[in-house]
Parts: sequence; C-alpha cells; structure tokens
Amino acid sequence: MSSTYDAIVIGGGVIGCSIAYQLSKKQKKVLLLEKGRVGEKASSAAAGMLGAQMEFGVDHPLFPLAKRSRQMFGALSQELYAVSGVDIELIENGIYELSYTDAESDQLQKRAAREAFYGESVGWLSSEEVLEREPALSSDIKGAVYFPSDGQVSPIKLTKAFLEGSRFYGTEVREYTEVMRLAQNGDQVTGVETNTETILAQQVILAGGVWSSSILPPLGMVPVKGECLSFTTSGPLLTGTIKYKNVYVVPKPNNRLVIGATSIPHTFDEKVTCAGMIELMERARQMVPGIEEAAFEKAWTGIRPQTKEGRPYIGHHPQIEGLLVAAGHFRNGILLSPITGTMMADQIEREVLLNEA
Ligand SMILES: Cc1cc2nc3c(=O)[nH]c(=O)nc-3n(C[C@H](O)[C@H](O)[C@H](O)COP(=O)(O)OP(=O)(O)OC[C@H]3O[C@@H](n4cnc5c(N)ncnc54)[C@H](O)[C@@H]3O)c2cc1C
Repeated sequence: MSSTYDAIVIGGGVIGCSIAYQLSKKQKKVLLLEKGRVGEKASSAAAGMLGAQMEFGVDHPLFPLAKRSRQMFGALSQELYAVSGVDIELIENGIYELSYTDAESDQLQKRAAREAFYGESVGWLSSEEVLEREPALSSDIKGAVYFPSDGQVSPIKLTKAFLEGSRFYGTEVREYTEVMRLAQNGDQVTGVETNTETILAQQVILAGGVWSSSILPPLGMVPVKGECLSFTTSGPLLTGTIKYKNVYVVPKPNNRLVIGATSIPHTFDEKVTCAGMIELMERARQMVPGIEEAAFEKAWTGIRPQTKEGRPYIGHHPQIEGLLVAAGHFRNGILLSPITGTMMADQIEREVLLNEA
C-alpha cells in the first residue's frame, strides 16, 4: 500500500501547527489531525510571553534554543502575515522581573551581571529608574532586572497564523478527528488509526501536548494546570511585561492586561478556582495598585505539558522508525514553537534526502 501523505501531524496546538506550516512550506503533503478544535487547549491559554532570558537564562541548557526561537519572531510575524493575513501581535517591549526586598535585589543583580557577562542584553534598574519607565508600579519596589529582548505575542493569533499558513501551503486539516493509535508494521510506523479509519503516511509527528502519552504511554507526560485572568483599563497602565515571583502581568493591545499564572501539577481539571483568582489578583495588586480600578474581562485555564525531565522531546523516537515526537514544552511552547517547527521539518527533509540518495 502506498502512503497517501508525506507526514501526519497529530495535534493542532501551536506546536503541531508550526510543524505543519514548516513541512508544507517545504512542499510536503501534510495532514493535521486534531481531536477537538485547533488551538483550543494549552495554546490558547498561554499569556504569550517570549521569555528566553526571563524563563531560562544563560546557564540553562535550553537557552540557546530559546534565544534562537525568540529571534525568529520578527521575520516570522511578517512571513505569517503575508500568507495568513493574521497579525500575531508581536510586541518587543521587554520583561521586568521585580524585587521588593534587598535579598531579592541582590539575587537579581547577580543574575543581571551573569547575563551581561555572556553578552546578553540586560539591565539592572533602580526603583527610581523602573518607576520612571513604569509609573503604575507600586512605589515600594526596590528595583528590577530588565530583559529588553524578551517580548510577547498573541498565542491564539500565532496558532491561527500557523494554521492558516499551513493551509496556504497545502496542509489538509481535519478537526474532531482523534488519533486512537499508531498504525505500525513491526518497528516501522505506517500511519495512524483514527476514530473512523486508518490513514497512511511516511512519517508521523506526535504533537498532542499533554495528551501525547495516550498515544505513547512511556512519554509519561505530567499535566500542570495553569489559571489566568484578564482585565481592561481605560488607558494604558504598563508598557512592558512585569513579573514578581510566579505571577506576571502582560499588557496586551487595546488596554487589556493578562495576569497569570497558577501552577498545579498532576491534574486535568479545567475549572478556574476562587483560590487561583485570589492568588493572582493579590500579587498583581501588590505590583500595580491601580489595577483595582480595572474591569474584569474573563478567566481561563490550560494544561501545560511537562516531561519527567522538564525538557521537551523534539526529534525521532529511538525505537519506532518514521515516528517523531514534539511534546512537553511546558511553560514555553509559544516561545519555542518557531524553532520546534523548523527543527522537525529540517530533520524530516534530511531523512527523505538520505533515503533518496
Ligand atoms: C496558563 C498558561 C500560561 C502559559 N503562558 C505561556 C507563555 O507566556 N509563553 C509560552 O511560551 N508558553 C506559555 N504556556 C505554555 C504553552 O501554552 C504550551 O507549552 C503550548 O501551548 C503547548 O503546545 P502544544 O501544541 O504542545 O499543546 P496543546 O496546545 O495542548 O495542543 C495539543 C493538541 O493536540 C490535540 N490532541 C491530543 N491528542 C490527540 C489525538 N490523539 N488526536 C488528535 N488530536 C490530539 C489536543 O486536542 C490539542 O489541541 C502557558 C501555558 C498555560 C497553561
């Protein structure tokens, strides 16, 4: 039996859509299968921060990858707009990590010095300097480390842009189609079995977020629930994203503020809890007292996909021929989506060329 598709992508989150986009751009015949609606799971719950330095920093093994991915957003936003008509709302106003005690300032200053030593763009700002840039912050702030190159996008629009861009290049997208298992001939993957049929492909890419383990149980993906809230204000309150401990406030277009995020491991529960809202609102008010006047817009949750090792799986399955995995991007799937898409597409293209040689 000959394969109908060059590649089947399982999962229509930001990761699956980015891979489908890059593969179809390389003229591969791609089928994207999504069990619900595209982009409705973790990818639409994200705040959209591109925190390569804020989240990882120079000492983290994923930093080079995160930094390369962050750098891709400038050109990608234009490229995606040209093929999809979707503006991903890339904002490059930096992220401030705030300190409220001398001990925190000391720690953040050391961190800034280390980033600067490795040539990264970073600055330590005194309380006066931070307040001059962001006057809505509480005046008891001690200072902040500023990462000017860490930006943000709209995660919903980014996923949509990858999806429409994939369609532009010929990807076939089927929603409400659940992959039940891989179709295999011994150790060789031959396609997938959905709830209705078997579909053949040369390569299968598993990008099912936290649900990837139901196709491949050894992945042992850990669900980590996160809650977010959004508010609107009559005028702009912040220019850059601010963060203190585990809570951040991200200023979006049209005077929206996104506050996130709680972190509750080992649950698939998707309820927004009172405790979660209180935690986020109290911390946000500590950072920006004027937020009390903001109008509540909505609250939501998403389930982050975390691996046992804490790092995403991106690449070939070691035992199953023709199977690739791109899952477990945890708190940084939006940031890492461009590089994941190109890495996977490049790997597949290299392999096809080798097989043809
Ligand atoms: C509250 C919150 C805030 C976040 N903030 C940020 C942030 O600021 N910056 C950042 O970079 N990241 C952030 N993240 C993380 C980011 O959202 C995730 O890492 C990313 O969305 C993961 O994308 P994904 O495509 O792997 O998973 P998902 O978006 O969950 O997509 C997986 C898709 O696969 C589908 N699927 C699963 N199994 C099957 C199957 N068998 N058949 C067919 N389809 C299937 C699912 O229905 C789903 O649509 C945040 C996450 C949360 C929850």
